Amino acid sequence: MSGREKPARLPVAIHARIANRRKDFLHQLSTRLVRGYGAIFVGNVNAQTLARAQHGKSVLDAGWSFFRTMLQYKCDDAGVWFDEVDEAFSSQTCSCCGSRTGPKGVAGLGIREWTCVACDRTHDRDRNAARNILAVGRDRLAGGIPALSAHCAAAVD
Ligand SMILES: [Zn+2]
Repeated sequence: MSGREKPARLPVAIHARIANRRKDFLHQLSTRLVRGYGAIFVGNVNAQTLARAQHGKSVLDAGWSFFRTMLQYKCDDAGVWFDEVDEAFSSQTCSCCGSRTGPKGVAGLGIREWTCVACDRTHDRDRNAARNILAVGRDRLAGGIPALSAHCAAAVD
């Protein structure tokens, strides 16, 4: 073995350790959500599409697909309502007044906070998107399962 090959093993070990920690964290987080809420809605974000944009890399890093799959089966086990919601425009739409005044396009992905020019309310990007996703999910529940008392929206974009 040449001296050049040896260090190549190191990043693999580090990567595996990070991956394990993340999975463990995602397990704990999903369990907490399923125990704490009667309904969980997630945006139907396409991680592969987002990954093509530079900022989307963090979506894959966070193990979003893994998390969503895990969340769904834990919900099924616990009898918690789980639904995917079309999150188109959820990060662009103001969750207060409904105007589409938020950051747009690939360039807008890096903007974490913005102020609606229509109602002057300042939003955290993810929280605002989650509120919009929750609103869509609640509308769906209103037509189907009204007995649930708590809701949670998770959004990554
Ligand atoms: Zn607004």
